[in-house]
Amino acid sequence: MTPENIGPKPNRSEPANAVFDDFDRNHLWHPYTSTHDPLPTFKADHAQGAVITLADGTELIDGMSSWWCVIHGYNHPVLNKAAKDQIDKMSHVMFGGLTHQPAIDLGKLLLSILPPSMNHIFYADSGSVATEVAMKMAVQAIDDPERTNFATIRSGYHGDTWNAMSVCDPVTGMHGAFGGALPVRFFAPSPGCGFYDEWNPADYEPMRRLLDEHRDEIAGVILEPIVQGAGGMRFYHPQYLRELRRQCDELGMILVFDEIATGFGRTGKLFAWEHAGVEPDIMLLGKCITGGFMTFSAVAASARVADMVSSSSAGVMMHGPTFMGNPLACAVALASTRLLLESPWQSRIKEIETTLRERLSVAEGWPCTADVRVLGGIGVIELKRPITDLAPFQKMCVEEGVWIRPFGKNAYIMPPYMAISDAQLDRLCTAFLKIIRTLYC
Ligand SMILES: *Cc1c(COP(=O)(O)O)cnc(C)c1O
Repeated sequence: MTPENIGPKPNRSEPANAVFDDFDRNHLWHPYTSTHDPLPTFKADHAQGAVITLADGTELIDGMSSWWCVIHGYNHPVLNKAAKDQIDKMSHVMFGGLTHQPAIDLGKLLLSILPPSMNHIFYADSGSVATEVAMKMAVQAIDDPERTNFATIRSGYHGDTWNAMSVCDPVTGMHGAFGGALPVRFFAPSPGCGFYDEWNPADYEPMRRLLDEHRDEIAGVILEPIVQGAGGMRFYHPQYLRELRRQCDELGMILVFDEIATGFGRTGKLFAWEHAGVEPDIMLLGKCITGGFMTFSAVAASARVADMVSSSSAGVMMHGPTFMGNPLACAVALASTRLLLESPWQSRIKEIETTLRERLSVAEGWPCTADVRVLGGIGVIELKRPITDLAPFQKMCVEEGVWIRPFGKNAYIMPPYMAISDAQLDRLCTAFLKIIRTLYC
């Protein structure tokens, strides 16, 4: 339905090794990488629509949305124009004592699409920082030196900074490397009832007991609503959130929804809370907020939370990043969100969901697969064994003209939903299935 946005034709005269770079290999640190035997990195030269083009001209259909943040595709003229127009006015100005139109317009737009109870917006730099801000906000709102801890569910992911790590899954997360250095949080098992399963009330009981037992220590509960992303790619039952909301109200705990991965349409709803009809007290936005153009995040809070923070002993929200409310990021976020809301995003994500379900279901019978699941623009093939070596996977991706990066047992595709064409999605699914089948089954 969207036009195929293929970039310039490959320049085959370049040597094949133009995609590898010795300086990069020897001096640049990539995510979660050892300097001793770093994973090969392919040099991207440009990107257009749903296609990333390597330095040797190889075109890759993007199955990752650059870690889940690209909505409209790369090099989108509307986002580029928003950035260029804002650059010519001011790319940055401090947010202490000053404000600007992009921040105001973005705030208005976000409040019009967030849960009705959201009333205040705190702009931050990245998803992890948004998590830090939300946890600080909850502690300040409760304002009780005895009640400063947090509960969450296993298999979660909330970012890589210190407090964010502390609420990530203790096994697949980074607790192993940092252990005793991290604050110790309360973990309930991750919900066992899947999104499409029948609700089993027993599923909530471990969390109920945990919150009851530690009600005098816990300020708030933080979790990803409906879809647990980088901690396990799990889709759980909406009723879990309704039970949790009720208990947080009973116990006076702050409920934080981390919608950094689920926001802006990815799960088929604009935000994942809508699947449950349950509003949080604090909500985190990141990743897709700028359509994947640049780093930015927002922490939304209810009027009640804002009031609690402002009536607390400190009396002010104790956070203020240098680049808070960066005008360039606000202008791009505004353009991206408007573009999304004007587009037929709901029907397009539905179509993608249907295609993913049809195409990936063949993997259900394979000896190497534990589960195949699809929700919105997310298609997961969970393997029985973890993928420990990414190099052969990446190499085959490049040979097949796609870009996919699995973690642990989870191989998945999350294409840029407003940019990928039907033909590109078809090729992405074909390559994804072929890679799994060839390398692991
Ligand atoms: C990616 C992610 C984060 C961290 O965001 P960064 O911008 O990488 O710091 C936090 N929470 C969730 C749910 C995420 O998916």
